[in-house]
Amino acid sequence: MEKSVESVSGAQSLRLQRTLWGFLAQLCLLLTLASATLAGFMEPVRVVHVALMYLTLLAAYVLLIRSGVNLYLHDPSMTGAQVMLSLLPALYGMYHLQDPQLRVAVVLMATVGMLFAALAYDTRRLLWLGGYHVAAYVFLIGTLAFWAPERLNIRAEAPVILTYALVITMLCLLGGFIAGLRHTLRQRNARLEIALAELRDLATLDPLTRLPNRRAALEQLNSQSEKAHSQRAEGTPVAVGLVDVDLFKQVNDTYGHQAGDMALCRVGDALRASLRQGDFVGRFGGEEFLLILNNSGPEAAHQAAERLRETVLDLQLPELPDDYRLTISVGITLHIADEPVESTLFRADQALYEAKNRGRNTTVLLPPGASGTPTSTPTPHCEKSGH
Ligand code: GH3
Ligand code: MG
Ligand code: MG
Repeated sequence: MEKSVESVSGAQSLRLQRTLWGFLAQLCLLLTLASATLAGFMEPVRVVHVALMYLTLLAAYVLLIRSGVNLYLHDPSMTGAQVMLSLLPALYGMYHLQDPQLRVAVVLMATVGMLFAALAYDTRRLLWLGGYHVAAYVFLIGTLAFWAPERLNIRAEAPVILTYALVITMLCLLGGFIAGLRHTLRQRNARLEIALAELRDLATLDPLTRLPNRRAALEQLNSQSEKAHSQRAEGTPVAVGLVDVDLFKQVNDTYGHQAGDMALCRVGDALRASLRQGDFVGRFGGEEFLLILNNSGPEAAHQAAERLRETVLDLQLPELPDDYRLTISVGITLHIADEPVESTLFRADQALYEAKNRGRNTTVLLPPGASGTPTSTPTPHCEKSGH
């Protein structure tokens, strides 16, 4: 699946954050080494070496993440590489410690790196990494035994190595268990997100026409009303219309409810397809639809409504006889910035009522504050054959 730009940049910043946390753990280890130096168990220059190694590694990771090169790697988080490489400066520091007891303290700090892997790896990979840690420690002891035996208490090292191996194994098993839990949680979250999207659809979409339902239509109207209110000075009128399919009961009664359903879907699709981008149509209920036309003065709104009416009139309806034509009546008005949307809807409904009174297949415009007869465009009534 293609990953979105946001999700990639989110993951990258998380990786950067984790790298910086890793550096914090390394600073702690440097502190341990510095205190050992102050106590006279290590030459200061060794601490400087370790610090330089850590800084070089940090710069390399940050560069790789910032440039996005890590995205081409098998594991973009570079967890394994980070944990494995960051052990090397620690080994160097341990090698130069004069006192065996202090080595155990440094080993303890170096093990913190494993915790970072425990956040990302499963048990198997953790055990590999743990094995690497123990092997590296054994290698260090071997090197010391060969080059600097005076810094080693070889008899004490066997229980230390055993304990280290056991601690690392426990850490791997617990880490793997936690990784399993995280995996389950991630899967559950993904399922919840899908369910949430379905619920959102159920709550806002009409299941038959897949148009926004009444609730979503009213929400849209309210939000357009607020927008119109805030932009009043710029004069951006919003037109609101109610569309009602004419004599639709006859369709159901004559051709069946299923044919009626299909015809309604086609009307909904046609309305949606004929609107400009940014305009809105929702199913308001039954065979009624709500229109919201942005930046539409009375003339433009009327023209748009007429275009919709003609589109429906031309609609081919395979589920109905060839010559059968559905018609719609449209009542349209303008929303005044300060008025409640209920008043606008009431006016649109009055206009629709008037359109029905005038014989259907008509658009009637009732401007705000208009008294008396609303303006309408006389339209040729369609053949009522079959109605
Ligand atoms: P008018 O021109 O006055 O609007 O006449 P009409 O027959 O369209 O109006 P009326 O209110 O008498 O009937 C509306 C019909 O719309 C009745 C109802 O069964 C039908 N209808 C509403 N919703 C649906 C639907 O989802 N599917 C189908 N098939 N029919 C529906
Ligand atoms: Mg109706
Ligand atoms: Mg009707």
